[in-house]
Amino acid sequence: TGIEELLLSRIRDVADYPAPGVLFKDITPLLADPAAFTALTDALAGIAQSSGATKVVGLEARGFILGAPVAVRAGLGFIPVRKAGKLPGATLGQAYDLEYGSAEIEVHAEDLSADDRVLVVDDVLATGGTAEASLQLIRRAGAEVAGLAVLMELGFLGGRARLEPTLAGAPLEAL
Ligand code: IMP
Repeated sequence: TGIEELLLSRIRDVADYPAPGVLFKDITPLLADPAAFTALTDALAGIAQSSGATKVVGLEARGFILGAPVAVRAGLGFIPVRKAGKLPGATLGQAYDLEYGSAEIEVHAEDLSADDRVLVVDDVLATGGTAEASLQLIRRAGAEVAGLAVLMELGFLGGRARLEPTLAGAPLEAL
């Protein structure tokens, strides 16, 4: 489709970043192009609205850049899920494994309730570890998962299959 070509044309492949052998997908050219950034925002906002979401969660850091305008466009609240230690209020945390070691993400506990249906937004789905932890966090906060929407899915890393049990029927949309 037209939008897929537009978005793909504005994503830059950077070899050997952040480590040798990794081909990094850089979205900064897309952000710098107002037509592409608007098209992306509109497409994600459409997903948010059709999912019946009441809130948009963005994953630090590029999920903030994409998720905040989506929330505004869809008329929904925006909730940041941050790396541990960055949020000042009472938080819920979720640890997850990385290739070497582990990481933890947090959300303000008061930002989500049992009345919420949450759409998670991020730029890239790779192994699915980050998204999986965020979905677990949302459920533990008592909210329902409306879905996961990403700009790009690196299919060869198997994130979609990994997320299937956690999504539990909620849609995963990759533009
Ligand atoms: P995962 O947890 O392995 O799925 O990695 C996804 C997280 O790492 C997301 O928050 C992405 O922003 C980031 N990420 C992984 N690979 C890339 C990439 O090629 N470009 C941009 N971000 C990436």
